Amino acid sequence: MKKLNGDNLKIALQRKGRLAEPSLQLLKSVGMDFDYHEGKLFAPCRSFPLDLLFLRDDDIPEYVQDGVTDLGIAGLNIVQERGAAVAQLDCLEFGSCSLSIAVPRKGPFKTVFDLEGKRIATSHAAILARFLDEKGVRAKIIPISGSVEIAPSLDVADAICDLVSTGSTLRMNDLEPIELVLKSEAVLIANPSSLKDPRKKQLIDRLRIRFQGNIRARKTKYVMMNAPESALAQIRQILPGMKSPTIVQLAEPGMIAVHAAVPEEFFWDVIEKLKQAGASDILVVPVEKMVV
Ligand code: ATP
Ligand code: MG
Repeated sequence: MKKLNGDNLKIALQRKGRLAEPSLQLLKSVGMDFDYHEGKLFAPCRSFPLDLLFLRDDDIPEYVQDGVTDLGIAGLNIVQERGAAVAQLDCLEFGSCSLSIAVPRKGPFKTVFDLEGKRIATSHAAILARFLDEKGVRAKIIPISGSVEIAPSLDVADAICDLVSTGSTLRMNDLEPIELVLKSEAVLIANPSSLKDPRKKQLIDRLRIRFQGNIRARKTKYVMMNAPESALAQIRQILPGMKSPTIVQLAEPGMIAVHAAVPEEFFWDVIEKLKQAGASDILVVPVEKMVV
């Protein structure tokens, strides 16, 4: 194995699993150039002083806390569960899921308060304990490390607290969610001492700007349209939250082209309103990177 370069920034990523592929994709999309094959534990980047370490997601918060790596990408659920002393920097907008309490369908439990004195199986015992405490519900927590959803059918537990994205695993096991405990997604975490080291901090900031440029771009479309000049005031009002749009005079008198970046969340609303305001030939293109 190649030796780690002590001067390089180090980032811990999930080796195998749901966050592995999107984490690698994010790094590649911001210009990190590295060789990767499954089973690899370590990969240096050629284009940036960064080394990648591939680990189990559960271990990432502790590695970052202990300074084995400066940065890590892990689910917010894992970061909170492990309670490690790390700085939470940015949400990365992938790996979305909910940690929810679920119960057998058509059973007697409708809310978390019905679980007083009951058994709840989970791989997120610390988060669940905090949640039950806040709600004032005393239930017995059964810590399980995997396949939590089968616990009720084995009569190991009356309910579960587990990660859900589409809910299909729950349905397959005849369970239904009754209470949201935590909304989670992948987050960038950092070792607090690394953030105090000026050289490392500068590298971390450069990486964060790149990540944010990528995340923002994913959420933005670039919209180009033609419109009568007289519609400009109204069009400008419709275009949400962005700086001044670009206006280009067209060869046809009285006609202009308007170009603007539009956040994905408002996208269809904006397009419909623009059409009503007189815009035509509306072109929409994806944004590759967006640095503001
Ligand atoms: P490892 O071997 O690294 O410990 P794992 O089996 O614990 O892997 P995965 O199932 O790959 O972990 O999940 C990793 C993370 O993906 C979760 O901690 C969570 O943040 C996120 N995630 C997103 N959707 C889901 C889902 N439907 N079920 C479980 N995790 C999800
Ligand atoms: Mg794990």
